[in-house]
Amino acid sequence: MTAKLIDGKEIARRVREEVTREVADFIAGGGRAPGLATVLIGEDPASEVYVRNKRRACVSAGMRDFHRRLPAESTQRNVEDVLDELAADSEVSGILLQLPVPGHLDAEALVARIPREKDVDGLTVENAGLLAQSRPGLRPCTPAGVMRLLDEYEVPLAGAEVVVVGRSVLVGRPMAQLLLARNATVTMCHSRTRELAQVVGRADVVIVAAGVPGLIGGDAVRADAVVVDVGIHRTADGLRGDVRFDEVAETASLVTPVPGGVGPMTIAMLLRNTLEAARWQQDPVLVSA
Ligand code: NAD
Repeated sequence: MTAKLIDGKEIARRVREEVTREVADFIAGGGRAPGLATVLIGEDPASEVYVRNKRRACVSAGMRDFHRRLPAESTQRNVEDVLDELAADSEVSGILLQLPVPGHLDAEALVARIPREKDVDGLTVENAGLLAQSRPGLRPCTPAGVMRLLDEYEVPLAGAEVVVVGRSVLVGRPMAQLLLARNATVTMCHSRTRELAQVVGRADVVIVAAGVPGLIGGDAVRADAVVVDVGIHRTADGLRGDVRFDEVAETASLVTPVPGGVGPMTIAMLLRNTLEAARWQQDPVLVSA
C-alpha cells in the first residue's frame, strides 16, 4: 500500500475534545449550556442508532439533550407542531430532524420549519443560500467534516482540480460549494456524467458521495491523488464505501478508510455546529449578520 491513511477517528476525537473544552469555556463565561434537540420519527433501526450516537456525543461534550421520539404514523401537522415548539424554545440551540422521515411526510416542508440559526444540519434553504454566497451560516456536517480532514492533512485546495462525485443536497452540492469557497477548481459528477473515470482521473482531490458500493477503483484515480470516500454500505463483510479501497490505496497519496474515515467526522461537526448555533443565538449581532 502506497497511500497514507486519513485517520477520521482520531481527527473526530480531537474535534470533540475541542468542542467539549469550548462548551465549558462558554458556560464559564456566562453562556447557557448549548442544547441539541433530535427528532426521530418511526422505528428505522439505522436512524435509531444514528440518533442514539448523536445524543450520547452531545451529552459527553457537556451539552443538553432534548430528544423527541414520534410514532411512524405522526401527521405532518403533529411533526410541524413539535418543530415549532422546539424552534420557540430558547433552551434549544440546535434542531436535528433525522432523515429519512416516513414516506407520507413532506421532509422539505418539515426542514423549512427549522429556523436557520438552529439548523445544525445546514439543510434549510436559507443556510444553503448563505453557503452558495459564501456568507456565514451553519454548514452541513458531513461536507464540513471532509473539509476538516483535508485541512488536517494540509491538502492544498487553492487552484487544485477537485472532482466531487454526487450532487445530493446533503453531501455533493454543499461539498462543491465549500471547496469553491477555498478556491479549488471544482467539477461535479453525477449519474448522467459520461466517462466518469476520465473526469475523475484529472483530479488532484476526489470526493466520492454517490451511494454506489465500489464505484471508484484504482483505474480511475491518478497516481498521488487524495481520495475521500463518503459512501457507507453495510455488507456481509462489514462497512464498505463507494471506493474500492484496496486498489485505490495502491495509487493514491492519501485515502480515507471505511469505516474510520469520514463517518466519525459527521457527529463531531454536528457538535461544533450546535455550539456555533448557541453562540450565535446568544449574540444577536452575529445572528443578524
Ligand atoms: P444520494 O443518493 O442522495 O445522492 C447520490 C448522488 O450520486 C446523486 O447525486 C447521483 O447523481 C450520484 N450518482 C449515483 N450513481 C452514480 C454513478 N454511477 N456515477 C456518478 N454519480 C452517481 O446520496 P447521499 O445522501 O449524497 O449519500 C451518498 C453516500 O454517502 C451514501 O452511501 C451515504 O450512505 C453516504 N453518506 C455518508 C455520510 C457519513 O456520515 N459518512 C453522511 C451522508 C451520506
